[in-house]
Amino acid sequence: MADLDALIEDLVAANRILANENVVDAFGHVSVRHPVDAGRYLMSRAKSPELVESADIMEFTLEGAPCNADGRKPYLERFIHGALYEARPDIQCVVHNHSRSVIPFGISGEKLRPVMHSCATIGHEVPVWDAQDAFGDTDLLISDMLMGRDFARVVGNGTCALMRGHGCTVTGKSIREAVYTAIYLELNAELQWKASHFGKLKFLSPGEIEKINSRLGQARPGEGYDRSWEYWRRRAGIASKRG
Ligand SMILES: [Zn+2]
Repeated sequence: MADLDALIEDLVAANRILANENVVDAFGHVSVRHPVDAGRYLMSRAKSPELVESADIMEFTLEGAPCNADGRKPYLERFIHGALYEARPDIQCVVHNHSRSVIPFGISGEKLRPVMHSCATIGHEVPVWDAQDAFGDTDLLISDMLMGRDFARVVGNGTCALMRGHGCTVTGKSIREAVYTAIYLELNAELQWKASHFGKLKFLSPGEIEKINSRLGQARPGEGYDRSWEYWRRRAGIASKRG
């Protein structure tokens, strides 16, 4: 239970951090795979991420059925999360958001690619999922497993994908990794857009991306994702309870 409590504490912190960094606003959500039962995940009830507290965290099956609803209403788009956990056993955390700078890349055909060292975790090129392709006219939200699975197919083996006219979804092998990539995906989109005014851009090469990600993966405790996590926690006004 101690592990579960610590994970829920980190999930609440992730909600606050993503709100504080303007990745989520009144909408958007973050989940984590259950630490004991890989066929379940944890996520807040439908609520603005900035306001999420530990009592809001619910448990879901991968199909999106609440296990302990207790009168709490789940997010409509929870199927994004379950479909990704189902398709990718390596994924431990999913962030879905409508952050502003990524939207132009989902509607223009302009490819979102890493322009900066810190943004290498977004991968060589961020794919775009368009609800229109398989489902025709919809309200653009992923509201069942059929759509969730179609989206997971577009994410493939990558860390993230854009959703045309809607937002993006980011995954990670930990809460810290997914939060890191979500924040730097938004920053990369902003920087790429600004730099595009100068003309042709030079993006990170596949070899550079691989080397940067390999180094991040081998970071010692307190470095890499841990270092940014502590920084963002402090900025969000979250007191450190566990060092
Ligand atoms: Zn959404």
